[in-house]
Amino acid sequence: MKKTQHLRTAFFSRRRVPDCPVYDLHGHMGPVYGLHINRESAAQADAVLKRNGVRLLVFCHHAALLCPDIGNAANIVAVRAFPERLRAYCGINPNYPDQIEKDLTSFDRYPDVYVGFKFHASFHAIPITDARYEPAWALADERGLPILLHTWGNDPQCGYTVIRQVAERYHRAPILLGHSCHGAWDEAIRLVKDFPNVYLELCAVMDERGILERFVEELGSTRIVFGTDYPWFSHHYYIGAVLGSGIGDEDCRNIFYRNAKRILGK
Ligand SMILES: [Zn+2]
Repeated sequence: MKKTQHLRTAFFSRRRVPDCPVYDLHGHMGPVYGLHINRESAAQADAVLKRNGVRLLVFCHHAALLCPDIGNAANIVAVRAFPERLRAYCGINPNYPDQIEKDLTSFDRYPDVYVGFKFHASFHAIPITDARYEPAWALADERGLPILLHTWGNDPQCGYTVIRQVAERYHRAPILLGHSCHGAWDEAIRLVKDFPNVYLELCAVMDERGILERFVEELGSTRIVFGTDYPWFSHHYYIGAVLGSGIGDEDCRNIFYRNAKRILGK
């Protein structure tokens, strides 16, 4: 089948295309120490999403990852203030196992907020294979909930070697490789081929020309999801980079919304 690229023209002339919604499965919120983040509040995020035609942002508030005294409360407040376009990953900080226990015990009180979990193992300097993450892995796997991992190369905390070890243990939870093991593209492709529940996420991938095209050529487009790390990076850039890569309309649709809707059970 010949690939068409009508979507590119439609987006470039109208900025958003109603029959091609965008689901951003990798976002954040709130301030971060050491740098200025533009548009850090939930209200600002909601306005940006609306303007850019982003149907849903699934995020993990920086506080949930970096401020154990606040933890996931910040996720809950943000989603409940803007439920139309926001959902959250329950952030897991393995340095605070007591907090993990509380978050998992109360998880079912927030079906309107949480879609799954986020692990940022390099922030926390504890590999994703560590026993402290296990209760969250087990709950996600039992229910088929996605876990978004920050992944990078062969980082000892979150690189392809430890990803392979967890993928061998958990077969039901969609494992979303945030940044697709950045730089270790061959190994990322191998993981998707070997494990049917592993997905590649595109944030930071687009800084290297030709990688998305290679992913699609080797894997098709049903195991690739769209993400931006918003508000770290912009939707304009990432949507444009996917459309400009030269992949076909059907692949863009899989990446922008079809795969995400399937993962989220919508
Ligand atoms: Zn992130």
